[in-house]
Amino acid sequence: MMQFRILEDAQAAVGRPLSPLETIWLNHTSNVTDFQLYCYNIVFLFIVFTLIPLPSVMLDVLRVRAFDKYKLQPGVHTPGSIAFQCYKDVMLTFIVVVGPLQISSYPVFKMLGFRSNLPLPSLGEIVLQLLVYFLIEDYGNYWLHRWLHSDWAYNNIHYVHHKFMAPMSFAAPYAHWSEVLILGIPSFVGPALVPGHMITFWLWIIFRNMEALETHSGYDFPWSLTKLIPFYGGAEYHDYHHFIGGKSQSNFASVFTYCDRIYGTDKGYRYQKEFLLKTRQAKQCVESFSQPQLFTEISQKSMEDKKFF
Ligand SMILES: [Zn+2]
Ligand SMILES: [Zn+2]
Repeated sequence: MMQFRILEDAQAAVGRPLSPLETIWLNHTSNVTDFQLYCYNIVFLFIVFTLIPLPSVMLDVLRVRAFDKYKLQPGVHTPGSIAFQCYKDVMLTFIVVVGPLQISSYPVFKMLGFRSNLPLPSLGEIVLQLLVYFLIEDYGNYWLHRWLHSDWAYNNIHYVHHKFMAPMSFAAPYAHWSEVLILGIPSFVGPALVPGHMITFWLWIIFRNMEALETHSGYDFPWSLTKLIPFYGGAEYHDYHHFIGGKSQSNFASVFTYCDRIYGTDKGYRYQKEFLLKTRQAKQCVESFSQPQLFTEISQKSMEDKKFF
């Protein structure tokens, strides 16, 4: 519950006049419990999973030719029935696993020290905490994802996520229920180590999932603002991981590229990049990229990447 129900009390406690955003926050949260605020995450996730993928999925399903030049696996399109079934399966996992997990984790969230009161965090504080969350999640996700490519974990868990060799955004959270739980762990380590404000936690959940939706979109749009982020993998980076499929020992990191470079698990990807650069002409690249021979070569290169599990 907000600790300040009256504007004057809030200003006296903060020691200054409230900013417009803080006044809005005060007005909207004075009669809302912390638990209810925490549960907003479920609503945000539902909106993000449903609306954000729509533009790229529609381009894919409707085979909009004007955007084919941005398609990472040209000529491979998802049928509408498959996309809709994928969305329904994701929503089922959302209702059965993600929602209850969110609700049941509230006591831990409170115990860790998250707050919903005033003052609101500064932009600098939010950005810094989100950066820490992303770095911790990326590192943890890298190693868990590598484990998911061990023989047992792949055959029993991770194969579900790799059913899409040419992914689209609805397929980002498409995974075995246990994988949702396993890969959810590093997402909460950062907030657990560096607890902040409820707003920061909302933004973390929203941005982390938007990032996953983009990297599974199947399209590499040159105007994407995420291209400005240093060491950011993006759609092309993770699409390669799906393109190679179950054999892949390459491109495990979820957000950045540095882990794969440091631990030597991006050889196949770099080989493919070098090949595409050498061919120079985009059309020639596309034709060659589709040939089974090249796929075999890239698969072999990818399998040469380090495999510890
Ligand atoms: Zn994988
Ligand atoms: Zn994926």
